Amino acid sequence: MEKIKVMISFDIEFNINGAFSNPDNYAPLGAASLVRAHAGQDHGLGFALACLKRYQLRGTFFLETLCSHWFGIAEMKKIAQSIAVDQHDLQLHLHPCWTAFKNPDWKTAVRKKNPDDSIANRSAEELRAIIGDAKKLFVEITDKNPKIFRTGNLEIDRQAFRIFYEQGLKYSSSLGAAGTGYADETLNLHNGVHEIEGITEIPVSCYLSKIPNKGWRLFTIPGSSTKEIEHLLNFAYQHQISPIVILVHASDFSPQSGHSQPQFKPNHFNQDRFEFLCAFLAKNTQRFSTLTFEEFCKETPATTGAAMPALSAPISGALLRILQNNVLPKIGVN
Ligand SMILES: [Zn+2]
Repeated sequence: MEKIKVMISFDIEFNINGAFSNPDNYAPLGAASLVRAHAGQDHGLGFALACLKRYQLRGTFFLETLCSHWFGIAEMKKIAQSIAVDQHDLQLHLHPCWTAFKNPDWKTAVRKKNPDDSIANRSAEELRAIIGDAKKLFVEITDKNPKIFRTGNLEIDRQAFRIFYEQGLKYSSSLGAAGTGYADETLNLHNGVHEIEGITEIPVSCYLSKIPNKGWRLFTIPGSSTKEIEHLLNFAYQHQISPIVILVHASDFSPQSGHSQPQFKPNHFNQDRFEFLCAFLAKNTQRFSTLTFEEFCKETPATTGAAMPALSAPISGALLRILQNNVLPKIGVN
């Protein structure tokens, strides 16, 4: 049996923080939305970085760069440097909604129409401008060229894949067909390595759950209990489903309340799940190797085809998740 390759991937992005729905009273939130301080402790990015360090694991951090149209370069640069210290992999993430701030009269514009945050359903010309801009900002922030990209909200279409390819990006982790999936059925991929319009696509892993809704779920920290994480990784090994891509956000570890004076409250269930994941991977190195996307893509990985077995998790794991996500927080336990 082969070792299963696991990539822990983070979307590193700032928060629009209500600025589009209430532009007069709220403004985007920068580094504080990633630090997520509570009682002098970091319950966001710093929590995750400390956890990875404790277990000597490296992750891939997809940096959203279009936010520089509001914050300038320095705000994300500071974050990039704090991640790069531990030799993690920095790659490109992009949320087109931030380009709204290029318009000096953005307040009037967002009152008329909420900015479109999807990279899908755009003209080739628009895509060239957005992707070129995001890429240029990434170089300014990190002093290196991105090799791998992930689109915001995992929204993408074939036209966008074509333009990313044209702009020199050859690897992506932008798919993850959870819920209703994509309008283009050929993009409904749940695992594996695929070739799309010249790009090597490595989707966020999805798994089948029987409850609460039958269907595909993304392999995320809020979306998977410790029992599910353990089962999914063991299942992947037994059925040789590789690679496994796990999606993490700093916000998983502490929800925000309030916009003008935001507060962050630790979510101990999610923090424990991430710690559990790291401990499991560090302990089971004979079956799993945890690596960055850059390492995975070093020698172009062979495509796996669409016929990989489906990852699935047992009802007991889902029950624990529902208890922790939906029931216990209502009585103040989290
Ligand atoms: Zn994102």
